[in-house]
Amino acid sequence: MAQIIDGRKVSDKVREAVREEAARFVAKHGYKPKLAVVLAGEDPASQIYVRNKEKGCAEVGMDSEVRRLPATIRQEELTAKVRELNADKSVHGILVQIPLPEGLSEQAVLGEIDPRKDVDGLHPLNMGKLLKGDDSGFVPCTPQGVIELILSTGIDISGKEAAVIGRSNIVGKPTALLLMQRHATVTICHSRTKDLGTVLRRSEIVVSAVGSARLVTGEMVKPGAVVIDVGTNRVAGKLVGDVDFDSVKEAAGYITPVPGGVGPMTIAFLLKNTLRAAQLLAP
Ligand code: NAD
Repeated sequence: MAQIIDGRKVSDKVREAVREEAARFVAKHGYKPKLAVVLAGEDPASQIYVRNKEKGCAEVGMDSEVRRLPATIRQEELTAKVRELNADKSVHGILVQIPLPEGLSEQAVLGEIDPRKDVDGLHPLNMGKLLKGDDSGFVPCTPQGVIELILSTGIDISGKEAAVIGRSNIVGKPTALLLMQRHATVTICHSRTKDLGTVLRRSEIVVSAVGSARLVTGEMVKPGAVVIDVGTNRVAGKLVGDVDFDSVKEAAGYITPVPGGVGPMTIAFLLKNTLRAAQLLAP
């Protein structure tokens, strides 16, 4: 029977450290670190995420502002907004909420963010630094949270067989890179992977970031494995992950719940990245 990893508890520790460090920053510089979020369109899930980010900033003594833009905004206008925030000295972190409304290019807008303010770590320069193992850049928040949750179990990542399911730029790829940096042997699985079960059954660490309920079941998991469930899915009005919690908890050594696992970690690391941006930009 697996031990449940309490993401709220682990994230509280990260947030508490950010709160203390932010207070020292304010005492030294006389202003608060500030996150600016660009929200285009009316996507209901994005509205909730953005509200949580604002709340998170306030709780650790940091400022935030949300630029709400209509779904009909043109690419050039969106670029202009980002450039405005790049030039604004009171803003230290910039996050463009994804997904963007149809017709807008994510890649184009992410490339416009000043890499020094890119707290989501999605600018090509920051992605390149992560690939090279140069830790002067910004790393996406959810993957940092995943690593922190694995470390909270006390296991040593070095030398472990790890499987990451999903190959997105925001979760799958950076998570695989961070695990490799910590010397795991990593297999990246995706929609064309032929036999997921065979890969998972040999993996001591499993991170699932797909968005498909009950993708990972108990018989696919190596006994004692650490299973981190990034996925979020709505099933009959209920929020569930990718992992079939009831069967997997019988086999795994450690498992994260959904909700209350990875979700709280993402915001905690966004706050940490924003504080770091303010520190690096400070005179
Ligand atoms: P995405 O849609 O960009 O990527 C999904 C990945 O899953 C793709 O790389 C695809 O190849 C892979 N995939 C699809 N079907 C598969 C299958 N049957 N077997 C194996 N792989 C398959 O999504 P994303 O942005 O990476 O997010 C993934 C999930 O994580 C979503 O459910 C999202 O809501 C959730 N998420 C949660 C948090 C959080 O803080 N809790 C943060 C980010 C994303």
